[in-house]
Amino acid sequence: TVTVPDLIAWLRRTGELMAEHAAELSDLDSAIGDGDHGTNMKRGFAAVAGVLDEDFETVDALLKRVGSTLVSSVGGASGPLYGTFYLRMGTSQKGATELDAASLLGAMSTGVEGIEARGKAGIGEKTMLDAWMPALEAFGRAGGSLADALRAGAEAAAAGRDATEPMVATKGRASYLGERSAGHIDPGAASTALIWQAAVETLA
Ligand code: ADP
Ligand code: MG
Ligand code: MG
Repeated sequence: TVTVPDLIAWLRRTGELMAEHAAELSDLDSAIGDGDHGTNMKRGFAAVAGVLDEDFETVDALLKRVGSTLVSSVGGASGPLYGTFYLRMGTSQKGATELDAASLLGAMSTGVEGIEARGKAGIGEKTMLDAWMPALEAFGRAGGSLADALRAGAEAAAAGRDATEPMVATKGRASYLGERSAGHIDPGAASTALIWQAAVETLA
């Protein structure tokens, strides 16, 4: 099972990875957007790290605080989208103090439905959803332990990130480029793969 301290470790590790990969994420965004995705993620998750020492009794209290911190500290499209992910992930588990594999999958799925509702995008539009959706599918399909399921999810997220390269963007800033958006990995799909990497490192 995944406890509140486990989720805190996941969020801290996510922040470290966003800081380590900030230049890379911004370079991806320079090719098809405005070049700020790495600094957005680094700033947002640094703000998140700043609230993780507060007292959180429940999964939803923690994730609500995380989501609202991202929304208020990241100005770009990704702030409200990732913020909504954690907010919805939390509210789907009202009162829970730990999650088993099934409830973790349920919580993350509800979070991703929030991203879809907020951004009105679907699979194949060259966004973070192209990493999220295959990751959740693989997580759900994987039998065995939570660790195996998380590893399957992370592998699928990385494959989904790579699969955005030939896609033409039809949502977000990259869509302004039309056909010229093809040939580059989507920065949001790359940051989602880092969230999954952090999950394997801390929750598996
Ligand atoms: P901005 O585009 O405002 O500068 P960021 O650069 O931080 O924001 O984030 C860009 C990322 O947000 C994209 O790479 C994409 O993955 C994601 N994104 C943008 N619009 C949408 C949307 N409508 N649905 C899902 N994800 C989106
Ligand atoms: Mg940007
Ligand atoms: Mg921007």
